[in-house]
Amino acid sequence: MQDEPIDPFNGDPSDPAAGLEDLGDDAEDEPLTEAERQDVLEDLSDLEIYQALLSPTGIRGLVIECEDCHEPHYFDWDLLRGNLRHLLSSGRPRVHEPAYDPDPDHYVTWEYARGYADGVHDTLTEGTDDE
Ligand SMILES: [Zn+2]
Repeated sequence: MQDEPIDPFNGDPSDPAAGLEDLGDDAEDEPLTEAERQDVLEDLSDLEIYQALLSPTGIRGLVIECEDCHEPHYFDWDLLRGNLRHLLSSGRPRVHEPAYDPDPDHYVTWEYARGYADGVHDTLTEGTDDE
């Protein structure tokens, strides 16, 4: 005849804090203009190309000079893509969260990536005139 003590930590897995998701619907946010959306979409597709070309050479992402802190930030491909998608959906950039403890040797600038992609493109088109 012993009552089981009630364990307050037992049973219910629902955490009341779990519902505290940031819905992010700040009414004052302005959506991106159509031109801005296009820019982001172009960046996204460029990113696909750069990643496909550069990751086999050991490049893990891009380094971007930060306008806020004037320091280079290193972004992995996935992080970059996530940031751009976030920008598309929310209309504002995510607070920068650069890669952790990056090795600068594994990151290149947008300009480098663009030049590299152009070079590869030229090489490929040169090789296709075998009609
Ligand atoms: Zn910064």
